[in-house]
Amino acid sequence: MTFDKRTIRDADVRGKRVLVRVDFNVPLEHGAVADDTRIRAALPTLRALLGAGAAVGLVSHLGRPKGPDAKLTLAPVAKRLAEFLGRPVPLQPDSVGPQVEKTVREMKPGDVVMLENVRFHPEEERNDPAFAKQLAAGFDLYVNDAFGTAHRAHASTEGLAHLLPAYAGLLLEKELVALGGILDQPEHPFVAIIGGAKVSTKMDVLRSLVPRVDTLAIGGGMANTFLLAMGRSIGRSLAEPDKETEARLVTDEVEGNGKELLLPVDVVAAPSADAEGASGAAIYEVDEVPSHLAIVDVGPRTIDRYARAIRNAKTVFWNGPLGVFEVPAFANGTRRVAELMASSGATTVVGGGESVQAVEEAGLAEKMTHVSTGGGASLELLEGKTLPGVAAIPDR
Ligand code: ADP
Ligand code: MG
Repeated sequence: MTFDKRTIRDADVRGKRVLVRVDFNVPLEHGAVADDTRIRAALPTLRALLGAGAAVGLVSHLGRPKGPDAKLTLAPVAKRLAEFLGRPVPLQPDSVGPQVEKTVREMKPGDVVMLENVRFHPEEERNDPAFAKQLAAGFDLYVNDAFGTAHRAHASTEGLAHLLPAYAGLLLEKELVALGGILDQPEHPFVAIIGGAKVSTKMDVLRSLVPRVDTLAIGGGMANTFLLAMGRSIGRSLAEPDKETEARLVTDEVEGNGKELLLPVDVVAAPSADAEGASGAAIYEVDEVPSHLAIVDVGPRTIDRYARAIRNAKTVFWNGPLGVFEVPAFANGTRRVAELMASSGATTVVGGGESVQAVEEAGLAEKMTHVSTGGGASLELLEGKTLPGVAAIPDR
């Protein structure tokens, strides 16, 4: 896909003070960064800017604070980033205000400062223009590299682009090229594997992908609604009976257009979807799931069918775990799909919250063509929606 937005490659940043919106909304554990994937993902843009002689201010949110909240300070993030960059990253006491503005104006080329959690101010999510103006104070340019937040029209993701000359960062560009390529010009055969908990959250992405794919594989909890729509008994499995009709429309469209539909043919079912359920788990054909059990994973014959599709594919997109992968005994389908994709020669793209987590945990992220840093944003992009944070950046 051609990316027609202005990027930092189009900007002359020498001697400029550049405000970069990053997505440093990372998981914390005991006051430290538990997963630094999103910090590492921002490094190419930050290194490019610093190398070109810019001074960099960083703005991000962390969590969902309701006002200032010491537990959601960006201090641990600033510390980890300083280690990666090999230079100090002083955290400012706030994201706006005269003191922050003074520090910004005193920055020299090569300096980095981090503003405190921008969501400590409710004006951020309201996209308040006066607040955006305060954020912009002292800066010459604005760069948006926060793909994971690009589907939100907030002051730091959208408002700022109207106040300062705005450019896309390298991560934003990479995400849009990889995910946009899935929509615009996937190499065929194109296989989409969609799992996850609920079909209701995946209907829009299914509707967008169905006309483009050659094979649609459906697994995870959402497959249960499709099985229900086909008249299978699914025991106590998670399902959304009110979505049966919509599910049938999707399967009709796939099969009516001569495309391949892969629904589970066998499953792992257990008395409960938690660790206690593991001892009572067994493999069943889809039409033989006992009424007192719940489907918690796809079975081995289903995985074989996925494997054949992945082997023949030139493009594979995956979103959503194929089972309750948080319980190791029910993680087999999810892990196998990650492994099959990692060892295939196809263009492989993974997007989503838990599916990306599963790929990272399996240590297979490096083996994929692209692993998206944006859960909600990647789905909205694939649904064909415009991301406000991207739309606000001028075309080249
Ligand atoms: P993603 O974040 O990758 O888009 P979702 O948020 O849609 O994925 O779904 C992730 C959740 O789906 C996981 O927490 C997983 O436990 C759950 N899940 C997968 N298969 C099942 C199933 N058969 N029954 C219940 N929950 C399931
Ligand atoms: Mg999720």
